Amino acid sequence: MKILVINCGSSSLKYQLIDMETEKALAKGLVERIGIEGSILTHKAGEKKFVVETPMKDHQVAVELVLKALVNEDHGVINDVSEISAVGHRIVHGGDKYAKSVLVTDEVVENIEECIKLAPLHNPAHIIGINACRTLMPNTPMVVVFDTAFHQTMPEKAYMYALPYEMYTKHSVRRYGAHGTSHKFVSLTAAEMMGKDMKELKIVTCHLGNGASCSAVANGECVDTSMGLTPLEGLVMGTRCGDMDPAIVTYLMKAEGLSIEEMDTLMNKKSGVLGVSGVSSDFRDIEDAAKKGNHRAQLALDVFHYRVKKYIGSYIAAMGGIDCLVFTAGLGENSISSREEICKGLECFGIELDAEKNNVRGKAVEVSTEGSKVKIFVIPTNEELMIARDTMEIVAK
Ligand code: ADP
Repeated sequence: MKILVINCGSSSLKYQLIDMETEKALAKGLVERIGIEGSILTHKAGEKKFVVETPMKDHQVAVELVLKALVNEDHGVINDVSEISAVGHRIVHGGDKYAKSVLVTDEVVENIEECIKLAPLHNPAHIIGINACRTLMPNTPMVVVFDTAFHQTMPEKAYMYALPYEMYTKHSVRRYGAHGTSHKFVSLTAAEMMGKDMKELKIVTCHLGNGASCSAVANGECVDTSMGLTPLEGLVMGTRCGDMDPAIVTYLMKAEGLSIEEMDTLMNKKSGVLGVSGVSSDFRDIEDAAKKGNHRAQLALDVFHYRVKKYIGSYIAAMGGIDCLVFTAGLGENSISSREEICKGLECFGIELDAEKNNVRGKAVEVSTEGSKVKIFVIPTNEELMIARDTMEIVAK
């Protein structure tokens, strides 16, 4: 079975065609600048790379070109579009309607539309992508996989903010979380690496990329996560501030004379490790600057690591223990020093990092000491594969 995984942004489209027998991507690619000048498709199949630069007025034209690339005689990987058994779409926000992936129907599309208020940048693009695929492949089943679904098992006490209750009932203000597909994938993989069922384990997953979040996963279910109503809450990120005193918002708006939009930009685009360091939002640049003695770069890293450490500790308390700690995403998979800094001082919980084993990048490996009570894993995330697995399971039903 071959599954096409699609992730539509407002002017972009990422895709992978995955062979479910091997769980390997046969081809993958990226379309950029859809609807604006300079549209470009970059397609990769094994060693072959293929680029198309042609005007693409909308996502439908982009999907058409993706399908053409997939069946192309030279760099294609299938003979006919009918070989694609199903399409799995990544959806950023499903609100509190979806705790699982579902088959696309008109009602599902309407519900995704209703969640636009919660993800104004992403959900409209997803709907355009779904509609484009439905038009071009009317007989191929489509599945939607929500980034929020894995977190829907959180108990009320974890997702409710201590605001007037009507803010929840009237405006749907609650914790939804994000990166759910990644947290689910690495939790399942960690359980597999331990030879256990996820239901028997207490896991803390740290998805540390440009966007970053931690989740507490107990007995196979997410019980808490650090991102909130939006991805701004929780950890310090590339450009997002994460947790802070909410009074800072009105204080700074007054002090700096900022509009709502300007304050929003300050917290989402100008803060995080970029804001503290003044160097970059990219952790590699910050690590380099810190090594050269840049104090603010080192401070940004310290603030970042300290926040992750506090979340791990709080989730151990929330779950009443921990069996396994997982690091994933760009920084989690690749930064040896970040994992070291985060784990430093967690020995009191039975979390012991093995310095030698930790000398690794981008591989699924255990990095805890022989005697560590808690297993520590580095696991490269694979959201596309998780989407494809869900899609296959639903279509098979
Ligand atoms: P996103 O998908 O949210 O854009 P990624 O998961 O791709 O983010 O992570 C990007 C981050 O990972 C960047 O800040 C990058 O600097 C960091 N990163 C990637 N490789 C390394 C590395 N070798 N050492 C340190 N940081 C790294």
